[in-house]
Amino acid sequence: MKIIRFISQSGEELSGVFNLETPDEARIIEGDIFGDIEVTERVERIETFLPPISPPNIIALGLNYGKHADETGLKNPEIPVMFLKATSSVIGHGAAILLPAAGPAEVDYEAELAVIIGKEAKNVSRNDAGEYVLGYTCANDVSARDWQIRKQKKQWARGKSFDTFCPIGPYLVTKDEVVNANRLRVRSILNGEVMQDSNTSDMVFDVATIISNLSCSMTLLPGTVILTGTPEGVGFTRNPPVFLQDGDIITVSIENIGELTNSVKRE
Ligand code: MG
Repeated sequence: MKIIRFISQSGEELSGVFNLETPDEARIIEGDIFGDIEVTERVERIETFLPPISPPNIIALGLNYGKHADETGLKNPEIPVMFLKATSSVIGHGAAILLPAAGPAEVDYEAELAVIIGKEAKNVSRNDAGEYVLGYTCANDVSARDWQIRKQKKQWARGKSFDTFCPIGPYLVTKDEVVNANRLRVRSILNGEVMQDSNTSDMVFDVATIISNLSCSMTLLPGTVILTGTPEGVGFTRNPPVFLQDGDIITVSIENIGELTNSVKRE
């Protein structure tokens, strides 16, 4: 099932089931996506996509693709390396990424598979980890490289937490529709040009390992979004570097998960 949150033509904020064959409308669902939901007969037209989830936490992994670690000059980590990204940075499909007034010059894209946790997870084994997944969506771990790398003594969170720096969506794909999350093509496309083209099979740590490992240090609450890291091809490692510019269009495309597209403009 593909679940969206959206604003309807009449201005209501609703949850619905999305169907690729009828992309302008959704069948309304009622209930709790972490418990029982009912798919009703009511159909509404989609005016604006909202983020498919309001996460209590956003956890992101650094250096989880070997070739990306190589391009940054850093080594593959021995255990997952995590940082937190502010929940206030979340936007949905179709919203604009803002180049912040405090640092507009080195804003970069990172295509990532996002895992959405379905129930509280603490000290979960790798074998049981799949039970705690609600589904998946696309994410862009937008990063102001000057703030991430140079201005904060190597603490990444601030450079990755500017407002609008966490586009997710367009919809949550429930796990029953995803045969193997560790074998999905992941791409980013900037103004029609493919910038990243890899596969989650290149991840250093797979989804089950990530959930198990993270849950040994913190409770993963329902709705927690885990960004699983980005493959090679990001802008700041290119020669010359490529950074997002006012007027750009950036898409994160993940096989069987969706295409998340956002415009870019100055704050
Ligand atoms: Mg990232």
